[in-house]
Amino acid sequence: MTDVTLSIEPLRCGTLTAARSMFETGADDAPIELPVPAWLIRHDGDTVLFDTGMHSDLTGPGEFSDAVGLFFDVGLEADDLVDARLRDVQVDPSDVDLVVLSHLHFDHTGGLALVPDARVVVQRDEWAAGADGELAGANSFRQAEYQLGHDVVLADGEHDLFGDGRVTCIPTPGHTPGHQSLRVRLADREIVLAADCAYFDATLDGGPLPPIGHDHDQHARSLERLRSMKAAGATVVPGHDRDVFDALPSRIS
Ligand SMILES: [Zn+2]
Repeated sequence: MTDVTLSIEPLRCGTLTAARSMFETGADDAPIELPVPAWLIRHDGDTVLFDTGMHSDLTGPGEFSDAVGLFFDVGLEADDLVDARLRDVQVDPSDVDLVVLSHLHFDHTGGLALVPDARVVVQRDEWAAGADGELAGANSFRQAEYQLGHDVVLADGEHDLFGDGRVTCIPTPGHTPGHQSLRVRLADREIVLAADCAYFDATLDGGPLPPIGHDHDQHARSLERLRSMKAAGATVVPGHDRDVFDALPSRIS
């Protein structure tokens, strides 16, 4: 598989700090700082962003900052916004072709307004939940972050972005109704960006799931799928693990 140029670049889009017990059932309340990543994937001439970090509203005081501040200490400067991070790696935000959203939580979807010309790829179940006022509220989605008029591709389960098997959405529902992860087949290995199906490396190694989420049993089944991919040799990158994130190179290819 050397036919296409393919790489992954992690983008640092701020931090969230909260009690560990919010992220791991049974953990103590000591604060833990989570990185908020977005991921740039370059596939030949195409540019894909997997998740978008947080909304610019959270760089300063305001109603949304107050609401998020009830649960999290937000670390977000203007330099951490996804458009700034894209420019850091010489990508004009308006040149992003596809935005794959793992799910509609504010730390994954908040930066969507900053990539106005991209086509959005999201699981149908997630988008439907996001359009339903009751389900959106129950899942803490903020409709103003994603109901922006982008072209939207609704995926039903596995979705191969380019038809060559190299970059594929993998449904991992449970954390939210239509959560998805992203599998990238590099020349000599497979990387799976887990997003919130597994917050930490420890989650993949049998650690506890968070106490909250859409469907705990469904989440556990999705996590089993990621564990089996890892057992089969894939590198599964958890969504919010500080040590894992800090150890990544600036470009994976
Ligand atoms: Zn989430």
